[in-house]
Amino acid sequence: MTELRRVADAHVTVEGQELLLLPERAVYWPAQKTLLVADAHFGMPLAGRPGEPVRTSTAAALARLDAILTRHEVKRIVFLGDFFHDRGARTEATVARLLAWREAHPDLELLLVRGNMDGRAGDPPPELRVRVVPEPYRLDPFSLCHEPSESKRGYAIAGHLHPATVLRTRPGESLRLPCFWLASDYAVLPAFGDVAGRYMIQRRRDDQVFVVADDHVLPV
Ligand code: MN
Repeated sequence: MTELRRVADAHVTVEGQELLLLPERAVYWPAQKTLLVADAHFGMPLAGRPGEPVRTSTAAALARLDAILTRHEVKRIVFLGDFFHDRGARTEATVARLLAWREAHPDLELLLVRGNMDGRAGDPPPELRVRVVPEPYRLDPFSLCHEPSESKRGYAIAGHLHPATVLRTRPGESLRLPCFWLASDYAVLPAFGDVAGRYMIQRRRDDQVFVVADDHVLPV
């Protein structure tokens, strides 16, 4: 008998909308059947021994997307910037992997809100059929962005920072974990890609923070 993976999403209400914070480090918005994915960083090379063929984070990232697609009804994925890790990450192998995944999901609407890395890496190849838009992209009541900012119209949902916070597990022990950071007028999603280098959030009193700990999203 196969054991079912137990996954615990966190439910929040923002601007009257129910949002699910997923342990795969993405947000599902049921009313719009939309998945929000920040900082996918496809094609990021993983550390390996010298002489070994270069492996990238792409296969694991696509497997996580598929795990979400089996649990939730998703019609649209909005990537909040940094689709490719960088220009060098846009290899033939990575593009082929993405295309195979795209062919398995021909009806999904894919959108990229262009981020800082996307200018350098270039837009996704046309065969992937990703519509590219500048930030902020308005999907009421939210402004979907790459970079968080309080000055944009409406509540912003963004990425870019790769936010993390410290979870105290027991006296003298703590873990630095990726987190969802919900401030009063913007939310910052954890990086979907396995990106090293995380930003320790500067939490204010009324902010809501949820850490990703394995298969669980927990309020802290
Ligand atoms: Mn990024």
